[in-house]
Amino acid sequence: MKIYRKSLLTLISILSLLVLFLPGAAKAQQSGITRTDLQRHDISVAGYEAIQVRVDFKPGIEFGLHAHFGEEIIYVLEGILEYDIEGNPPVKLKAGDVFFVPAGKYHSAKNIGNNNAAELATYIVEKGKQILVMKEQDHSKNKL
Ligand code: MN
Repeated sequence: MKIYRKSLLTLISILSLLVLFLPGAAKAQQSGITRTDLQRHDISVAGYEAIQVRVDFKPGIEFGLHAHFGEEIIYVLEGILEYDIEGNPPVKLKAGDVFFVPAGKYHSAKNIGNNNAAELATYIVEKGKQILVMKEQDHSKNKL
């Protein structure tokens, strides 16, 4: 009985460790894209906040047309990404390049390289609203 109890405790310890090493709650996955929340703070502009997120894209993966309730300021960390703001020609950016998305403009991003691509996205957005709205999900309730 004592041995059984010890084994059970060991098993619980191992399971607890496994949970620790699983991707954190801050990580959200969606088909080859990982968004890792880094920081979020109120700013000196009433009703707005600053949010920083690292976004990783697997090769060939595209995040479709979407928009934000504020500006998005992008710094490419690794790989090659193609950004497309609706109505503008697409731009290809590599590590070290920057990109600016005006408030409410629909845009998409695609990893056009053979390796992982990642960006640091900084949002200055309205507080209390969702971080992004996909174009196909846009309806009166979330109208930008
Ligand atoms: Mn965006």
